[in-house]
Amino acid sequence: MIDLLKEAQELFEYTQSLRRDFHKHPELGFQEVRTAGKVAKELNALGLEVSTGIAETGVVALIEGSQPGPVVLLRFDMDALPIEEETGADYASLNAGVMHACGHDGHTAIGLTAARLLHKHSEDFSGIIKLVFQPAEEGMGGAERMVAEGVLENPRPDYSLGLHLWNEFPLGRIGVTPGPAMAGADTFRIVITGTGGHGAAPNLSVDPVLAASQVVVTLQSIVSRNVDPIESSVLSVTTIRGGEAFNVIPEEVELMGTIRSYKPEIRDLVLERFYSIVKGVSESMGCEVDVSTQHLTPPVVNDEHISRKVQAVVETMFPDGELDVTSRTMGSEDMSYLMDDIPGCYIFVGSNNPEKGLDAGHHNPHFDFDEGALPRGAALITAAALDLMKN
Ligand SMILES: [Zn+2]
Ligand SMILES: [Zn+2]
Repeated sequence: MIDLLKEAQELFEYTQSLRRDFHKHPELGFQEVRTAGKVAKELNALGLEVSTGIAETGVVALIEGSQPGPVVLLRFDMDALPIEEETGADYASLNAGVMHACGHDGHTAIGLTAARLLHKHSEDFSGIIKLVFQPAEEGMGGAERMVAEGVLENPRPDYSLGLHLWNEFPLGRIGVTPGPAMAGADTFRIVITGTGGHGAAPNLSVDPVLAASQVVVTLQSIVSRNVDPIESSVLSVTTIRGGEAFNVIPEEVELMGTIRSYKPEIRDLVLERFYSIVKGVSESMGCEVDVSTQHLTPPVVNDEHISRKVQAVVETMFPDGELDVTSRTMGSEDMSYLMDDIPGCYIFVGSNNPEKGLDAGHHNPHFDFDEGALPRGAALITAAALDLMKN
């Protein structure tokens, strides 16, 4: 019986040094040149067939088992965020204004560790592992571009697996939820145009600040009054920009934000109400409005059967651990572009540790995680892949 957790723990120094190296040298989406170079070098060192330059900086490698069998895609994202790091860690970012504040440095290190484990055991499985190291997950469309560039062909995967180190969970907890696990995301931009003028003579202006304020407030009625309270949806206005001086009514105000939902029919409803309110409210106040939305990602929906199998793997590997079967988030993940076509499961690997001060949230300048989660993630995704190969 192979003890993958023990094997992954024996590789801890390898995994940790990779993670800290990636952390020191974070790169934004589609610019992961150094990271991808290191990934390719590690995979080449295993003697694998490696393809680079997919969607700019994506890397794909195949590990073939001893016999033909299912193809299992494992996906790891590599990009960092435009955030100035404030952790003070001795492996903190050396690139000003760029930081691995989501844990993708850990995902990349986990992927390379899983590659080592799977390569070592390639005589023991039937099928093919397709390792996908993806650029630009953070709202830049890396997964969609990899799909467009053929990542789901030659060979076409039968199953897909992905994971996220998760600082909303303590180290030790693993989240595997059948069905919807992460929301689909849309973004919006609204420009409300009025007629500028003197702040003391509003009667001679058409005030876009007041119209924008009404729009922000009225948009909040969609989730609270139109969406079925049993369903989930979010609408957040996240920027509001307009005006320069206390005595000038500006010409225009710009608003931006995001809409999240799990189901297509809820998304359709929210978008329909969104356009109607933005146009209706703005125009009723005498303003002109220009509004656009962009569909960022579909929801991540875990396949029922695969999720049950992964849950069983978790329970075997971590008998004293905490399997969470209800973890869902309104956060989004472009892994959904792969999972839309290839049934799969997306796993949350608990990684916070308040005792060590490692509990800041994702995308926070103080974000860091307990590296004890790295071997757990590597062992788990390896074991789940091997389990899927048995079918
Ligand atoms: Zn993120
Ligand atoms: Zn992330």
